[in-house]
Amino acid sequence: MRDHSDWPTQGDRRTARPNDGALVVSLDFELHWGVRDHHPPDGPYRENLLGARGAIPRMLDVFERYGVAATWATVGFLFARSRRERERFSPAVRPDYANPALSPYHEITGDTEADDPLHYAPSLIEAIARRPRQEIGCHTFSHYYCLEPGQTRDTFEADLRSAMAIARAHGFNLRSLIFPRNQANPAYADILRDCGIVCYRGNEHGWMYRVAAAKDERERRILNARRADRYLHLSGGNLTAWDDIPRDDGLCNVPASRFLNPYNPRLRRLEPLRLRRITHDLRTAAARRQIYHLWWHPHNLGTYTDENIAFLERVHKPSMLKRYCFQTNGGTIGGSLGIRRTRTPPSCRPGRLETARGRVRRVGRPLVDAGSRLFWQQRTSWSTRR
Ligand SMILES: [Zn+2]
Repeated sequence: MRDHSDWPTQGDRRTARPNDGALVVSLDFELHWGVRDHHPPDGPYRENLLGARGAIPRMLDVFERYGVAATWATVGFLFARSRRERERFSPAVRPDYANPALSPYHEITGDTEADDPLHYAPSLIEAIARRPRQEIGCHTFSHYYCLEPGQTRDTFEADLRSAMAIARAHGFNLRSLIFPRNQANPAYADILRDCGIVCYRGNEHGWMYRVAAAKDERERRILNARRADRYLHLSGGNLTAWDDIPRDDGLCNVPASRFLNPYNPRLRRLEPLRLRRITHDLRTAAARRQIYHLWWHPHNLGTYTDENIAFLERVHKPSMLKRYCFQTNGGTIGGSLGIRRTRTPPSCRPGRLETARGRVRRVGRPLVDAGSRLFWQQRTSWSTRR
């Protein structure tokens, strides 16, 4: 059973809460199941969804090159090798959403990944799990909407148990959850705990990220505020202090800081702003020794993949943070988070930053102690900073 107990610890598995800045990366891996109420499988968005299958190995290359740990919260349907397997694991009780378009059980699909690459992904899940420091997490079984009218505790629990069961059948023990459409429902904490989930991704702090249900998501005022926030410092850094992660209900909430919005050719002049919005907050997280949590969907990078991967490289290259994974071990109240830390890449040197022009800038005192040194990438291209 793969529950990441085989990850390298290098003697640095912590028993006390970390005191470093940290970058957490999580991805909502869903293919068509996550957008099926907005996009038909053969519509224009198909290019993005199919493109995700090519973008994922390239993202994994970036993660491996820079030692980035990431959590891939995967829709349970995607584990199935066949329609028959998917139906075998489907729960007997299913949500009766007031908006019937949200129910995925009527979706017409092919039989296997070979003839329907939008609804099956066991080969991609395997490819992700083979890479170092990548965690397979949970995005519910059916892309379940926890705040939608018509769904109930019973149908959520049945859905989550199906997700855990199909993952277990493929050798994965899921510990981290991302709520679809970020509909985090604190009333379900006991169900999460009973099913073995120890941590989840909460929402950004800004008013425009408070989600009640899908209708709020479509409100123009909210959508416009979120779009602007990706370029301008509207909602702040949304950083999280380590002490704020453990909750009284026994779970760990690692809230999102920022959605990595994809490259938009119409807004390409704003690309420096988009990059600076993230790198500024990364630096702040390092200085304050807090957590910065970046997230996106693989299909966001399914078109303009070259531009998106290049952006991802720019985000990670100058990263000044220790890289942590979203996975926590235990998550008990008041206990240690026991977060596993990845090794410092050998190409990194502490306390110095070489700019794109070749100048070496000394940076201030190391932000973390010598035993777990801060690192700076040797070469960066921070042209947008100057
Ligand atoms: Zn989703």
